[in-house]
Amino acid sequence: MMRRTGWSRREWLAGTAAAFGAGCAPAGEAPAPFADADVGDAGESAVALPEFEPRSMLHVSETRVEQPRFPVIDVHTHLTWSDVPLGPDPFGERIRKLGEPSAVLPVMDRKGVRTMVNLTGGVGPGLMVARRQFDEAHPGRFITFTEPSWNRAADPDYPRFQAEQLERDHAAGARGLKLTKTLGLYLREQITSGPLVAVDDARFDPMWETCAALNMPVAIHVSDPEAFFLPIDRFNERYEELHAHPDWSFHGSDFPSNAELLAARDRVLARHPGTTFIGLHVGHWAENLAAVGEALDRFPNFHVEIGARVGELGRQPRGARRFFEAYQDRILFGTDAIPSPEGDATPQQVFGDALYEIYYRFLETEDEYFDYAPAPVPPQGRWRIHGLGLPEPILRKVYHQNAERVLGLAA
Ligand SMILES: [Zn+2]
Repeated sequence: MMRRTGWSRREWLAGTAAAFGAGCAPAGEAPAPFADADVGDAGESAVALPEFEPRSMLHVSETRVEQPRFPVIDVHTHLTWSDVPLGPDPFGERIRKLGEPSAVLPVMDRKGVRTMVNLTGGVGPGLMVARRQFDEAHPGRFITFTEPSWNRAADPDYPRFQAEQLERDHAAGARGLKLTKTLGLYLREQITSGPLVAVDDARFDPMWETCAALNMPVAIHVSDPEAFFLPIDRFNERYEELHAHPDWSFHGSDFPSNAELLAARDRVLARHPGTTFIGLHVGHWAENLAAVGEALDRFPNFHVEIGARVGELGRQPRGARRFFEAYQDRILFGTDAIPSPEGDATPQQVFGDALYEIYYRFLETEDEYFDYAPAPVPPQGRWRIHGLGLPEPILRKVYHQNAERVLGLAA
């Protein structure tokens, strides 16, 4: 992955590694390099795992879906990024563009994407810059969400400040609130030190309630793939990804478990029934659709979005199809796309024609065993996916109708 100067998305979430002292596997416990693996009798002919790119010999139909059956609202994109989330400067007041509208719009037009929702639009002046460059310059094509001011979370008057800041950002045009996994996994009592702040900490209650009062949906991301909470060893199904990015692991240290994070989220959903939540990445548990279904059953204010998880959904196509049938009014289309020419998108986030065509093929066709990301090696795990072949009424809801309702847009 290319590195640029300044902050990566991961650093943005984590603050500096030194400040947190957690999140990176200690050097002494780093997983063994691939070359050290026991190659058995294969000897000289053994191929190192990163170089292994098997090509399927299946003769199965390949459908290219260049345009979606119905217009699309992509509710999960990152067109801007705030640079100093937990540092000394007010969060979100400096905003960085990840893509130019002039580069993004032609892809949207070619791929039938009517509107993109930029979730990471920052706060205050940063939000205004983001909106000016996207929403206001191209009406109807872009929608921007705001974010909490994490760096003030230790202030005694934070609950009131945050509620009022939301009101100011709503007045400035923000249509929703985005929570990264900063809450639950990075934000600490003294911002960058002390114990982690729980997802259901009471200081955020006025924020959730203000979202309800202003009809601002909350796009929330807590937790991460289950494998990120397990040791990085030969049994870990995302070994290659975690081996390349050991700081993505939440195994050990003082991180809560996946189950604890989701239980705290559920307490928030229960406590704020008037607030509409969009659980990003299939409710952050695409590996367990039964559990996501239970959450959708329990909480009428909960919805899910599919960004960066067609790899999970498509490897369980029969269960996924049943999930889409059962919850067709609660699932929103999203990609987690990042149109950054600087390369801070993971392979499954690279904005472009190829990305959208994979999603459309997955949702619309019954093609079998195809790649879930435009990358030579499957980035999240070495498997391929199968299309769902969803019927038109469900496609219409997932592509745009559910998003129109949740975002309060005219159809
Ligand atoms: Zn995202």
